[in-house]
Amino acid sequence: MKCRHCEEELREKFLDLGVMPPSNAYLSKEDLEKPEPKYPLRLLVCTNCWLVQTEDFVGRDELFTSDYAYFSSTSKSWLKHAADYCEAIISRLRLGPKSLVVEIASNDGYLLKNFMGAGIPCLGIEPTASTAAAATALGIPVIQEFFGEKLGQGLAVEGKQADLIIGNNVFAHVPDINDFAKGLKALLKPKGTITLEFPHLMKMIEFNQFDTAYHEHFSYLSFGTAKTILEKAGLSIWDVQELATHGGSLRIYAGHLHEAHPETAAVVALMAEEKRRGMQKPDLYQTFQGKADRIRDEFRSFLEAQKASGQKVAAYGAAAKGNTLLNYAKIKSDLLPFVCDAATAKQGKLMPGSRIPIVPASLLQEQRPDCLVILPWNIVEEIKEQNFLLAKQGTRFATAVPSLKIS
Ligand SMILES: [Zn+2]
Repeated sequence: MKCRHCEEELREKFLDLGVMPPSNAYLSKEDLEKPEPKYPLRLLVCTNCWLVQTEDFVGRDELFTSDYAYFSSTSKSWLKHAADYCEAIISRLRLGPKSLVVEIASNDGYLLKNFMGAGIPCLGIEPTASTAAAATALGIPVIQEFFGEKLGQGLAVEGKQADLIIGNNVFAHVPDINDFAKGLKALLKPKGTITLEFPHLMKMIEFNQFDTAYHEHFSYLSFGTAKTILEKAGLSIWDVQELATHGGSLRIYAGHLHEAHPETAAVVALMAEEKRRGMQKPDLYQTFQGKADRIRDEFRSFLEAQKASGQKVAAYGAAAKGNTLLNYAKIKSDLLPFVCDAATAKQGKLMPGSRIPIVPASLLQEQRPDCLVILPWNIVEEIKEQNFLLAKQGTRFATAVPSLKIS
């Protein structure tokens, strides 16, 4: 396979998690009769541009099905993150009623509704029918398509170039990252700004976040590689912020290559930091598999010990991360009888691969587990707060990444 960005032959393995179903392929009871599609989940690193990427096995149409069930608005901390961002960017870029804000992967309108509220025209681009419908119901115009160069150019021809293009957790999730970058270039006004947020590969390596790997997450980006990819499309990054979201993300600010602001000190410092850590040498990438294997073994042994001592265990958060961890550690409902989730679309379904039932969070009060495993460790504080009653009643909380922790 050749690198999706620079076409160099890919030779270095970064992570091999064996064979898994797509992480958002939640199963209904009827699906249990049918064979479950599973594909190898392997990440390779390009030794030319350092893009970590999934090996090609599965098509985009199989990953984003119509009942794809993630609604951004179900996470309260994410809603706050979105509202804070809107307030800051409106004043930083002096956006007003004559501006146009376009969000790619606008989901259920969790973010654009803030711009609407401020009287700033906006447009969402979202291929998933169920979430796009939720945004439309809020009065947000939505184009229900995948974004790329063709759509970017089409909108430009219609006079719909943007003052601000936002892409949160989408840049790393598109199969053709070069086409996406060219689309950004086409859609951006001459003096416009792009902000993209994506998980930072440097943090993934530092904090052993192997469970952020799943088929729908095609690219794992260092700052340096993101910069290289955008530059090839005629865009340049002029500022960067390190965020705590998703275990450590980057928010980059970019503009047209020759129109962009001078690079801030943060850009220079982060480039230097990545170099210091060896992000442009193969050695660092060879250490990761061992970290994943250690967490898998530790987690499985913990659940086996809980079962052996008669402790009641349950899990919280039926998200992609949980599926990767459970499937890699080969956990089934004998060790983990159920997973709670606040998203009603997932309740009553089963986790892909592990086939653990997903139930409403209200069941926790009835069941009162001795230990609650929090699968999305990135929102652990939010989940602990919501379940403070359980803690009072003696339930302990466990997380598996970056290493097994029980509190
Ligand atoms: Zn490459």
